[in-house]
Parts: sequence; C-alpha cells; structure tokens
Amino acid sequence: MTLRVSFPSGEGGALSCSLGGQCRNPFLPTLPCRDDLLLEREGFGADPGRAAPGPYLLAGMVLRSTDILTQTPQGLYCPLGDFHIDPVRPVRRALITHGHSDHARSGHGSVLATRETLRIMGVRYGEDFAGSTQVAALGETLRLGDVAVRFTPAGHVLGSAQISIEAGGTRIVVSGDYKRAADPTCLPYEVVPCDVFITEATFGLPVFRHPDTRAEVRKLLASVALFPERAHIVGAYALGKAQRLMALLREEGFDRPIHLHGAMEKLTAYYKSEGIPLGDTPKVVAAERAKLAGAIVICPPSAIQDVWSRRFPDPVACFASGWMRVRARARQKGVELPLVVSDHSDWDDLCRTILETGAGEVWVTHGQEDALVHWCRTRGIAARPLHMLGYGDEGEDTASPSSTEDQAGSGS
Ligand SMILES: [Zn+2]
Ligand SMILES: [Zn+2]
Repeated sequence: MTLRVSFPSGEGGALSCSLGGQCRNPFLPTLPCRDDLLLEREGFGADPGRAAPGPYLLAGMVLRSTDILTQTPQGLYCPLGDFHIDPVRPVRRALITHGHSDHARSGHGSVLATRETLRIMGVRYGEDFAGSTQVAALGETLRLGDVAVRFTPAGHVLGSAQISIEAGGTRIVVSGDYKRAADPTCLPYEVVPCDVFITEATFGLPVFRHPDTRAEVRKLLASVALFPERAHIVGAYALGKAQRLMALLREEGFDRPIHLHGAMEKLTAYYKSEGIPLGDTPKVVAAERAKLAGAIVICPPSAIQDVWSRRFPDPVACFASGWMRVRARARQKGVELPLVVSDHSDWDDLCRTILETGAGEVWVTHGQEDALVHWCRTRGIAARPLHMLGYGDEGEDTASPSSTEDQAGSGS
C-alpha cells in the first residue's frame, strides 16, 4: 500500500492508519484504503487555527457527505474529527448546539460548546457535567482532526449555535434547533451557506405559521388589564421561553414584578448575569400566593394544571408554546389563554432557511420530517429524513407532567 500524501504546511504527521505505517488514508474508518489514491491537502496558511482547510484533492475518489457525518445510535458522528454532535448517550467527545435537555446531556468525556451553553449545562447538571470542557467562540474556525468546525448563532435560546463541519471542500451545517423570529435574549440566526443542511422540523407542516410574538404578549397584557383580580399563570419552558417572555413583557412596558416558580429561578438568574434585562422577578413564596391578584406568574408547563397554581386568586391558565396553534392541545391542557410563542422556526421559516443556505442536500433530524422532505424534493433538493430518536421529546405528548424534561426541557 503506497499512498502519496502531500501537505504544503507539513502536517502529514497527523494522519495515521491501522493497516500500518505506510498507509496514510485519513478517512478511516469510513473509506477503504486504495493504492491508487493520491491525496493532497492545500490551503493551510501559516496559522492553521485561522485558515480553513483547503480541499482534499482525491484522485479518482469523491468524498461523500456521509463520509463526513454519519448516523450512530449515539447521534450524528464525524469520523474525520472523531466527535459526536448533540449525542443522546455519553460519548468521548461531544459538540453541543444548545442547552435544551434533549440536545445537551451530561456525562460526556469532553464537551465543546459556546460559553453560554457550557454555563447553562453547569447550572442544570452541576459543574462536573463533563470530564472537560472547551469554549467554542462564535465565528471562529477550529480544527478537529481532519475537519474544520465553526459555531454560528442559531437564534433559538441564549448560547444556541449551528455547527458547520468542513472537509474535502464540502460544508455540512448542523443547525440544532433554530428560529428566525426576533428574540431579545439571544443573538439572531445567521445563514451559513453550505452543501448539506441538517434541519429540525418541530413545526414542519404548512399548518404551522407562527403569529407575531409581540401581538401574543399584548394579548396577555390585555387579559391582565381586563381581569385585575385574577392571577395569570403562564406555562413556559424554563430555558429560553420563560426569559424571552419576560424580556418581551418588559419591551411592551410591563414594569411590575414578574413572579417565578422555583424551577425558573436559576436559569433566569443566569440570563440576568449575562446582562439581559428582565427586571424584578421574585420567586413565588407559598404563603403569599393568595395575595397575587393581577400578577403575572411564570411556571413550568406542567405546573399550570397542578395544585400549585390553584392557590392563586382565580387563576387564568396560560401557556406560551408553538403548539398553542392547535386548539385541541390548548383545551386538552386546560389552557384558558393560549399564547402562540415558539422558539422554533415555523413552516415558512424552515423552507426559507433551506433555500437561503443554498444547500443541494437536506437532512431532516426530528419533528414532522416527511412534509419537509417532500417539499425539498419538489424543489429539486435532495432530502432525507434521519428519523433520529431522543430529540424533541421534551414533554408535549410524551413526558409526564412532573418530569424535569417538561420543566426545563427544550421549549417548543
Ligand atoms: Zn430539539
Ligand atoms: Zn431546543
């Protein structure tokens, strides 16, 4: 086996092969060794940390997207860089898109994520949530093994990022969860042009069109004005949705205290420590619940139906979720005032984003996959559903009301 490997910047030493010292096939374990393979890598400047790897020039061989990213029981895996993205089980090296519990789990050997995501994981799981951690600075290119990796804002919750992986001139973007609607608590989504775009499809049906979020928040304020003797108990996911709601209420001029269920406290304190102005947010004290006529109280979705909320004066059950578009869901949950506020893209934004990335290939990870796959194909974009398990099960239909997934889960 003789394989000529040429590295202008002299980094050939990084490559190895289990077949012996002679073989320099860097695409193990996904590609077979071939003795007619001429491999050259160009484009490394004096500062490999800054320069993206140039294309691999493969004589007679094309690097397929599935050689760069493959599906494993743990989640998406990049063999060239030896890491998983948002793995659902403990792995040696994990790259995490954002802090929601279905994407960010504890117990990995090492975690690479944005500073905010690492802090959120620390708040939720304790500081020893991983063997080691590394901060990914937004917009900076990192080299991991034979791929270049870059984190870019996803607009989903504080610290959320898309992860792009580049090798052999092919760029794959794993978007995690994302939205295009404005959110005062996190950086806006940035379109990253790519060859393969991996998208969620939580609201991947044409029936899902989210209304203007501010109008929904005004509905809540109108109800508070109309019923000054009643307490408004608003169910919202503890990470992201709750803080976005508080920020929006402040932007609409609501300056009274916003009362919090204990489950919202730590993450809200963390958001405030990042300089996000949420105003006065006292924790609800059991003995004082009866005095909160006219107040807005934010709690986990499960708490709006529980005994906890019945102690408030004539409570109005509200729920802030993209699912509130579905009236039956609101009724089933006993929600009197549904607020359609989502941290995910609606159908139009999913389609628009796919087109804006210019991707020729789309993989759909979780949610309503089939309609989006079909839509892509009708537009001449190759698409496939990944049917990945373990994502998006944050308690709309599946989790029990008291589970932590529901309380701190991934916020639809
Ligand atoms: Zn998700
Ligand atoms: Zn999420």
